Amino acid sequence: MTAPFYVQGAWFVGAALFIFGLKGMSSPASARRGIVIAGYGMLLAIAATFLIPGLQNIGLIALALVIGGGGAWISAQKVKMTDMPQMVAIYNGMGGGAAAAIAAVEFAKGDMHGLVATTLATLGALIGAVSFTGSCVAWAKLQGVLKKAYRLPAQNAVNVLLALISVGLGLAVIALAPQQPELVIAFFIVALVLGLIVTLPIGGADMPVVISLFNAFTGLAVGFEGYVLGNPALIIAGIVVGAAGTLLTQLMAKAMNRPISNILFTPLVASGPGEAIEGTMKELSALDAAAMMRYAGKVVIVPGYGMAVAHAQHKVWEMTSILEEAGVEVKFAIHPVAGRMPGHMNVLLAEAGVPYDKIFDLEEINGEFGQTDVALVIGANDVVNPSARTDKASPIYGMPILDADKAQNVIVIKRGKGTGYSGVENALFYTDNCRMLYGDAQPMAGEIIQHLKSMG
Ligand code: NDP
Repeated sequence: MTAPFYVQGAWFVGAALFIFGLKGMSSPASARRGIVIAGYGMLLAIAATFLIPGLQNIGLIALALVIGGGGAWISAQKVKMTDMPQMVAIYNGMGGGAAAAIAAVEFAKGDMHGLVATTLATLGALIGAVSFTGSCVAWAKLQGVLKKAYRLPAQNAVNVLLALISVGLGLAVIALAPQQPELVIAFFIVALVLGLIVTLPIGGADMPVVISLFNAFTGLAVGFEGYVLGNPALIIAGIVVGAAGTLLTQLMAKAMNRPISNILFTPLVASGPGEAIEGTMKELSALDAAAMMRYAGKVVIVPGYGMAVAHAQHKVWEMTSILEEAGVEVKFAIHPVAGRMPGHMNVLLAEAGVPYDKIFDLEEINGEFGQTDVALVIGANDVVNPSARTDKASPIYGMPILDADKAQNVIVIKRGKGTGYSGVENALFYTDNCRMLYGDAQPMAGEIIQHLKSMG
């Protein structure tokens, strides 16, 4: 069914709004406006669809919108900031699944015409199905439902074999569908299993790259199915998401210093017990921490996932302001994979009102740790683990880290002896210049603030 010009026009306007929205999301200052603009684009694209003459199953479409839209509305209201990555992973998976479902319906209807449409539908189905099951596994890992990385004995060979079978079945589908429903079913099953098998072994610290890779996959799949449906809004939105996801994947892979092929085919798992860590963890009090920072010339704060869990960003900013008033230079050092989603720390610090000119990326700040009196690590772990530089058996070996250990003194605020996301011990905590301040990041920051205030 070809949509009339006014519907096509509205879809184009919707797609243009997606692009403006995306542009807005390139800076924390305009990100909120960008999301709203893109949301209006989506609303327009959906509303215009109802104007297609002779549209069937309107009741079913409306029901799906109520269930999907209502579910998303409620869950987005409730979701905690720290659970956002899981939500992104599952929504991403839903996008991939929806793209694969469009292809399945088109195959089942049997009225797909032309080699280009059939090929793109098949490609979209393959990528969408892999993204669907892969994103479900990513969700389960981030949610803590799946705690381990499951690895098959000949994992790489199995991955390659399954990928070849799914491509072979895909080619057969292009040549023979829709006369062969069994073939189509087998193709979908293998593609879904491929997503599972490729993602299950991925653990360590590779998850950020995988999530953005599936994001790119979903965009591509949606774009391909947009062509099949003759819907320019889907094509443009899909291409935009695909391109943005690909760029993000490249950035994250660079941040982890790992080629994407390595992540998919040789996922990070510790290959041995790792280097033995020498030394002991030494504690200090909130009062001592406050005094060290109050009388320091320069303090660099390294926030991590624990700061997000504790919602400590406002207290951290209050503490920063007091230190600055006392003449201390304070900077924030942000690792690209700190927290649980790309830009997680930037978003939290922006929300707390930290000016952007105080926030520095890894490459910008790493050279400064040598001239830093105190590095305050608050709820971060993997991103400051020096084993990443030296321990070849470590699951995070090769990942660039923030060189907090090079500061004169390091103070680490965390609740206890918990490891980071990668599950490995942190050699930093045992070094001579490091002191541990045990407690939840928010009350601890609060205690430091009280002591700073009493110091005048
Ligand atoms: P980590 O996950 O390495 O460490 C967080 C630390 O915070 C833990 O050691 C924990 O120790 C502490 N913590 C937890 N809750 C609190 C609290 N309430 N108060 C104080 N401390 C707390 O975090 P990083 O940010 O250093 O590193 C991020 C990791 O997550 C990387 O391995 C990255 O690859 C991975 N990842 C990142 C994603 C992204 O897109 N950014 C997505 C998925 C994974 P304790 O329990 O002792 O308090």
